[in-house]
Amino acid sequence: MSFDLAARLAARRAEHLYRQRPLLESPQGPQVVVDGQPLLAFCNNDYLGLANHPQVIEAWRAGASRWGVGGGASHLVIGHSAPHHALEEALAELTGRPRALLFTTGYMANLGAVTALVGQGDTVLEDRLNHASLLDAGLLSGARFNRYLHNDASSLAKRLEKATGNTLVVTDGVFSMDGDVADLPALARETRARGAWLMVDDAHGFGPLGAKGAGLVEHFGLGLDDVPVLVGTLGKAFGTAGAFVAGSEDLIESLIQFARPYIYTTSQPPALACATLKSLELLRTEHWRREHLANLIRQFRQGAEQIGLELMDSFTPIQPIMVGDSARAVELSRMLRSRGMMVTAIRPPTVPAGSARLRVTLSAAHSEAQVQLLLSALADCFSELQTGPNHA
Ligand SMILES: *Cc1c(COP(=O)(O)O)cnc(C)c1O
Repeated sequence: MSFDLAARLAARRAEHLYRQRPLLESPQGPQVVVDGQPLLAFCNNDYLGLANHPQVIEAWRAGASRWGVGGGASHLVIGHSAPHHALEEALAELTGRPRALLFTTGYMANLGAVTALVGQGDTVLEDRLNHASLLDAGLLSGARFNRYLHNDASSLAKRLEKATGNTLVVTDGVFSMDGDVADLPALARETRARGAWLMVDDAHGFGPLGAKGAGLVEHFGLGLDDVPVLVGTLGKAFGTAGAFVAGSEDLIESLIQFARPYIYTTSQPPALACATLKSLELLRTEHWRREHLANLIRQFRQGAEQIGLELMDSFTPIQPIMVGDSARAVELSRMLRSRGMMVTAIRPPTVPAGSARLRVTLSAAHSEAQVQLLLSALADCFSELQTGPNHA
């Protein structure tokens, strides 16, 4: 017996689902170098342009001089340092929650929160299009796991009727591959009516959404009673790395006691927390970043509609163009690349079968002229693909 990995890999290739990692040879930004080629990129999640910001870099440097490099131990041993603590307090303030707890990644924050809150005999209900980390967390928890129709409060209500034990309803805030937003007021209403808890992972909402960048809960004005468990990640609009869960005193203390992905891992480097404190300040105070980004989103949507592209129902920086067929999506991405544009093709199983797409993301670091260049390239590629016989 042996693992027939070669056959699995060949099958993946045959289905046009084979993944390759582009090699980035520059910092994040609109202009990147990938595999030796200079490109204009529309595919990172650095929505506010903070990943390579001089003040954030300086805060990181100063943090490393003061605190060294490694976290050194887990938070419960001797790895919980003053910058981590200060960042937690700042994140609690940003979210308007009593407390926040820092995790090393968003994936771990989601595994930690869900598995600490529900287990055997409980129920976890998730949106069908939730991020993989939330779905994995639900399965790992051992609770009864069920998915409701995408962003559909009445589908959720039906499942809530049959739920047993402690029941956790889990949703993305901004859906990461579609760019639409969860109908949080309706989901919160159904969830509260059944005495269940709502957990929102707003990885893509923090930064671009809300008057001070506090994401979709700020956008809708929802407090702790509506959304008792709020997750944010720091690798997207914050431009750094890590994640947090915000909520009540009891929630955070419970995570410290019971969330295994919190307990059994080394804390993030303290200098990273120093960098995030700076990016948090920029995210809150530099409103022009959100305003410029909103203008670019409008410009892109108008231009794309004129070309006749199929956009999705999104007012966020995630602006996917629906293609459908995986091979076609990959071909379009390749054609864009030959015109100096980098836009990733997203295929199953990341998205449902038959819904491959080009995932365009916009950032406050882009200019109007760069968005115009993208629109022109898209117009060329889509018309060439429709008429041109000369693609293999
Ligand atoms: C990116 C993402 C995560 C994972 O966060 P990392 O910090 O990158 O591990 C979790 N949830 C959603 C919705 C995401 O988009």
